[in-house]
Amino acid sequence: MPKYVYFFGGGKADGNGSMKELLGGKGANLAEMCLIGLPVPAGFTITTEVCTYYYDHGRQYPPELKAQVEEAFRKTEEVMGAKFGDPKNPLLVSCRSGARVSMPGMMDTVLNIGLNESTLAGLIESTQNERFAWDCYRRFIQMYGDVVLDLKPQSKTEVDPFEAILEELKHERGVHLDTELNVNDLKELVKRFKKVVKEKKGKDFPEDPMEQVWGATAAVFQSWNNDRAVVYRRQYGYPSTWGTAVNICSMVFGNMGDDSGTGVAFTRDPATGENEFYGEFLINAQGEDVVAGIRTPRKVAELAKEMPAVYQQLLEIRSILEKHYKDVQDIEFTIQKGKLWMLQTRNGKRTGFAAVRFAVDMVEEGLITKHEALSSGRIPPDDLNQLLQPIFDPEAKRKAKVIAKGINAGPGAATGVIKFFAEDAEAHVREHGQPDAHGNRKPEGRVILVRRETSPEDIRGMQAADGILTAYGGASSHAALVSRQMGKVCVVGCDKLKIDYNNRTVTVGDLVLRDGDFISIDGFTGEVMQGQVAAKPSEVVQVLINKTLKPEESRVYQQFAKLMSWADEVRKLRIRTNADKPDQAEQAIAFGAEGIGLCRTEHMFFDHIKPMREMILAGSAEERKAAINKLLPYQRADFEGLFRAMKGYPVTIRTLDPPLHEFLPHDPKGQAEMAETMGVPLAVVAERVKALHEFNPMLGFRGCRLGIVYPEITAMQARAILEAACTVQKEGIPVKPEIMIPLVAFPSELKAQAKVVHEVAQSVFAEMGVSVEYLVGTMIELPRACIAADKIVTEGGAQFFSFGTNDLTQTGLGMSRDDYGPFITHYRETDLIPRDPFQTIDFDGIGGLMQIGVERGRAASASLKIGICGEHGGDPDSVKFCHKLGLDYVSCSPFRVPIARLAAAQAALGK
Ligand code: PEP
Ligand code: MG
Repeated sequence: MPKYVYFFGGGKADGNGSMKELLGGKGANLAEMCLIGLPVPAGFTITTEVCTYYYDHGRQYPPELKAQVEEAFRKTEEVMGAKFGDPKNPLLVSCRSGARVSMPGMMDTVLNIGLNESTLAGLIESTQNERFAWDCYRRFIQMYGDVVLDLKPQSKTEVDPFEAILEELKHERGVHLDTELNVNDLKELVKRFKKVVKEKKGKDFPEDPMEQVWGATAAVFQSWNNDRAVVYRRQYGYPSTWGTAVNICSMVFGNMGDDSGTGVAFTRDPATGENEFYGEFLINAQGEDVVAGIRTPRKVAELAKEMPAVYQQLLEIRSILEKHYKDVQDIEFTIQKGKLWMLQTRNGKRTGFAAVRFAVDMVEEGLITKHEALSSGRIPPDDLNQLLQPIFDPEAKRKAKVIAKGINAGPGAATGVIKFFAEDAEAHVREHGQPDAHGNRKPEGRVILVRRETSPEDIRGMQAADGILTAYGGASSHAALVSRQMGKVCVVGCDKLKIDYNNRTVTVGDLVLRDGDFISIDGFTGEVMQGQVAAKPSEVVQVLINKTLKPEESRVYQQFAKLMSWADEVRKLRIRTNADKPDQAEQAIAFGAEGIGLCRTEHMFFDHIKPMREMILAGSAEERKAAINKLLPYQRADFEGLFRAMKGYPVTIRTLDPPLHEFLPHDPKGQAEMAETMGVPLAVVAERVKALHEFNPMLGFRGCRLGIVYPEITAMQARAILEAACTVQKEGIPVKPEIMIPLVAFPSELKAQAKVVHEVAQSVFAEMGVSVEYLVGTMIELPRACIAADKIVTEGGAQFFSFGTNDLTQTGLGMSRDDYGPFITHYRETDLIPRDPFQTIDFDGIGGLMQIGVERGRAASASLKIGICGEHGGDPDSVKFCHKLGLDYVSCSPFRVPIARLAAAQAALGK
């Protein structure tokens, strides 16, 4: 019989921590904590398989489930010494979601299940606390009503019916706080709550505890597909087929008085990585109160004074958990009448800074090995980005007006305009925040989302914003957790901010800031500043690139360097960079690049556009040659610079690739200017532009097709490369030029271009009296080139391959790389494809073509050097795929080199 339900409690558990796929992260860890002897309230997990079954079978459960749940209830009752539905000594339970990865706040939870008129009497009896029991009951009806009976407001303008009743009653009683309501008031609330349920749903609030359990279970399964969970999954690439588990846990109460409380903590600081117990708690409160950020909680260290024995026990548990899980844990606990209960543990979400620090510190503490430190679970390669991002310039900051200080929850520097609502932030960034052709965004297109607190509904706006600032909440609030995971700059709990959503203002003392005003937040210090503040490079960049900071002065740099050196010890892939200029090449070397994988030569033509245009307007081959040869000295000087910067590392230079019309102006004004500069009639220019017009330029007269028709262009470029190489070699600097022909489909194309290069080489070597070793190879960026890869080696004479996956994706999918935006957004939002194929290789399709290219190319020449230079070369998952294919190197932009180094190490370690 299939097992759908896993019990845990009283030091025993059916499952364990390794069963996350089946039990979800929460369920697996509850079982594991039981097994290692920690105090966990008993309960059971309904597996993720039930969730998938439920969706696959028209929202029905497997027939075996009911009996298994009843059996698990019996065991839970035995351990907890109370009975579910019992009028004398009732057991209450919570029903919580739990997917295999944590998705904070995205799915639903129902607490206090099992309460009805008769068990309520039992709860009063067993706790001797009538107010507490009625308070539980009214909270239960509201939560169940919102989540299970669907009475939660669907839009910003709608009001929660229960909140409306609560406010009305408080108004009638002339009180401000919930805690000021007495038992009779709470009884009245329950009465009105039940009435509104009857009105809205046409039936009574369910009294039967088992019916309540099944209702809550279905609601949790359904919350797997609510809008915010879907958005969250899409952002992190989690498939919808995983499903969530449901955890039914015995309730313990942190709101039973001043000897009770609740808290969340990290075993180390998740923002900076510091090795100190880091968390917060509230006395006499329920767990949701801490996470929701409505009351600002106290630092966990203060618990030492309030409840010394419990604090001591927590410190012991902190150490047990870190030793057991060998990673930093994020825990939830509740203290019920002086007794500590553990409600959850999971690997703590962390910033890139903390991830690196945890990993390096834990190796040095002997807790983990270097290989474990490198795993992608600990440091997702993209998170290294945070260590390379700008920080505020201290000079500019000194002059800035600090208006408030909150908790530094997500490090970094962010400046942008204030938006108070997630939808506004999203809309503003959509309209004003798009990057220009160089990837730069205008300051006024950046947003700081300023809120009292954030909730899971705000996730899209948080994603759009550069920074998040909240007035309430602590380091474990929703805003902090989510920003940290997204790598956003975040300051929370800044209680000096008075936010008025209606008027869209934030007031600090006398200062009033409005929607659209600039504000800056420092996620390292928690400072909030008025206006724009200039940023400067990160410490790592200051040490490596600008050389304005000494390595020994930056701990962040030292730990980064240590981690990178461990990565280099294990990775098999070499890392090169895409760079066209010596300064870019030097940056990339500082970040650890071992060669240039792609130098696009066209920028050099744009820098010297006049001779290029003469070449395009030329009437004869002779005229063309004369024009093109004017470019030779410029190209040679550029290449000399590259060879010098690369100090003997291989440098792959691609011959001209873009269609010629890109070098001509398309607007009448530009054409008139060009005609005047070149001294030709406007009609000649206009005529040439017209002649070069193509309906589909990406599939037109570009790539090697240019060099085939105009071999003098290839000859000039080959000469510039080889003369530069000879000159630099004569200076005593080793050189390794690799000349790369783009967009080859037929072996004969490569053969013809290689012939031009080899002939030029012979002349240059004879003229300069030295020779250099060089290779001629090709980009593989057309499906035909993959299929005919063997012939491209044997007949074409390719000495290396480099996958141009930008064009290979474009031509393999028949999807224009310049026009795919509008429909790909729809594809992604409707889960039609798992990832953007221009960001991460489409493994099954384009990846299959690459595999054929590698196999056939290497069948023709076993030692054929193969790399990748499309944008995918800097995408961690694509890097891992390239490792699997057996490529020799990946090539990416300079700032992605560290990311590729780490991803390559993870690929080699299989992590
Ligand atoms: C490619 O097509 O992947 C490539 C690197 O060339 P480009 O982007 O210049 O077309
Ligand atoms: Mg290309």
